[in-house]
Amino acid sequence: MSPSSRQPGEDVSAASRGKSIRFMGVSKGFANSNGARTSAIRNVDLSIAEQQFVAIIGPSGCGKSTLLRLVDGLVAPDGGDILIDGQPPRPGPATGMVFQNFRLIPWRSVAGNVGFALEGLGLDKSALSARVAAQLEQVGLAGWAHHYPAQLSGGMRQRVALARALVGRPGLLLMDEPFASLDAQTRELMQDDLLALWERQRPTVLFVTHSVDEALLLADRVIVMGGGRVLEDITISLPRPRRSTDARRTADYGPLREHLWSLIKQLVLSDPASAFFGRQG
Ligand code: ADP
Repeated sequence: MSPSSRQPGEDVSAASRGKSIRFMGVSKGFANSNGARTSAIRNVDLSIAEQQFVAIIGPSGCGKSTLLRLVDGLVAPDGGDILIDGQPPRPGPATGMVFQNFRLIPWRSVAGNVGFALEGLGLDKSALSARVAAQLEQVGLAGWAHHYPAQLSGGMRQRVALARALVGRPGLLLMDEPFASLDAQTRELMQDDLLALWERQRPTVLFVTHSVDEALLLADRVIVMGGGRVLEDITISLPRPRRSTDARRTADYGPLREHLWSLIKQLVLSDPASAFFGRQG
């Protein structure tokens, strides 16, 4: 990243460097309602380079969300090891999370929601306010700091969630179907804005999606999961910077899309219970 691409007020700290992730023989199971254990992740080996943008795609129930929860350190593996920059995962502001359902605090203002991520870090009030204001500007919400979540559209709420995830300058950004509940136009705008933010801050991103087009537009690499395993690991070398309008016009886009779709179709047809669009409505 060139210094000239940074925004005024941006913190050029070590914490903003995208982190590497390694999975070594990782497994994770859960007890189901009958008390029997089901495997969510089975013996996954994966190496993700710092600053890489990785999309994870696969039928519902194949372990995508569990993979993210293992990386953020909120869930521990049953077997194997996970290393983030060589260290075991630890929950905290160095990891930003964005979910489909925003998860904003309704009684806090936009600034209060974003500032929440910085509380407890020992910043004085004016430094915290400056960081929040700079981040809100970057997600296009300057002027909305004193509004409340209920006063915002879905797209704006997701921008607040994105600002909250990024304000701690995380080296890791974990996104679980973040745009799935947005309308098609808002989703496309958010994808372009996310690309611009990622180009500026360059965290390592793990992005779960059900959309083949979204994965192709955003990612350097698409990981296809099925039955708790990594089935394919595909490098997406479409040129960057990418934007939704021109990525689809490149010669490689069509064949990549066709390949991913045929994989997904095979997975769903081999296990119709794992509807690909399960939670998307
Ligand atoms: P995906 O994100 O691909 O839909 P998940 O990672 O959410 O898949 O789930 C993988 C499997 O693990 C599913 O069978 C799911 O029911 C199970 N699972 C996930 N989390 C839990 C949990 N907290 N308790 C019990 N089972 C779980």
